[in-house]
Amino acid sequence: CGIVGYIGNQDAKELLLKGLEKLEYRGYDSAGIAVKNESGVHVFKEKGRIADLREVVDTDVMGHIGIGHTRWATHGVPSKENAHPHQSASTRFTLVHNGVIENYSLLQQEYLQDVTLKSETDTEIIVQLVEKFVADGLSVEEAFRKTLTLLHGSYALALLDTENEDTIFVAKNKSPLLVGVGEGFNVVASDAMAMIQVTDQFIELMDKEMVIVKKDEIIIQNLLGEKIAREPYKALIDA
Ligand code: GLU
Repeated sequence: CGIVGYIGNQDAKELLLKGLEKLEYRGYDSAGIAVKNESGVHVFKEKGRIADLREVVDTDVMGHIGIGHTRWATHGVPSKENAHPHQSASTRFTLVHNGVIENYSLLQQEYLQDVTLKSETDTEIIVQLVEKFVADGLSVEEAFRKTLTLLHGSYALALLDTENEDTIFVAKNKSPLLVGVGEGFNVVASDAMAMIQVTDQFIELMDKEMVIVKKDEIIIQNLLGEKIAREPYKALIDA
């Protein structure tokens, strides 16, 4: 189970797939990536190995923003449908998640009675909640923050919004997640090893922080929306 993300000027696909291969040692039963370009967010996922995922990725789809995931199933069988990324009902929002949401069933009953779920995962609740709170009138940032305050359990999250050109929304609680700092690009990874080929500068995230990652800006906030300043450190790993 691992997460990667890229936002910059290069095509994201190969960076994400290579990053996921570096995270294979953590164990997984399925994998997926989402790549965003002018025509929207394109999701590719498959049960099995990264090699199986590579078979279903459309090499013609290019995009400078993307997220990727290896899944270790906790809620819902290992399958293509339950593999991440997961999308909201309208497909506006796309999410990857590592961890376990303990109160997902309560959240579903309280907020998502009208939503037909597409998977059996605890994860899908998160992305549907973001969409619901945006429909209720919140900004995406506010909706993401509100969702995070409702979650009980562990999460490392990376979220794409088709209507938000140049941002990956990131958050963590009790699951590992780092932001890697590049020049003209930034990355996200469960483990520095996944992205050490593109940068050795990483910012550690604390529990209950959320991050707005753009290609030349990283904004860390707590769940009250207050900004937090933190310098990157140099990861000492051989590429
Ligand atoms: N609980 C989520 C699921 O079962 C995420 C599992 C993981 O960390 O890979 O889909």
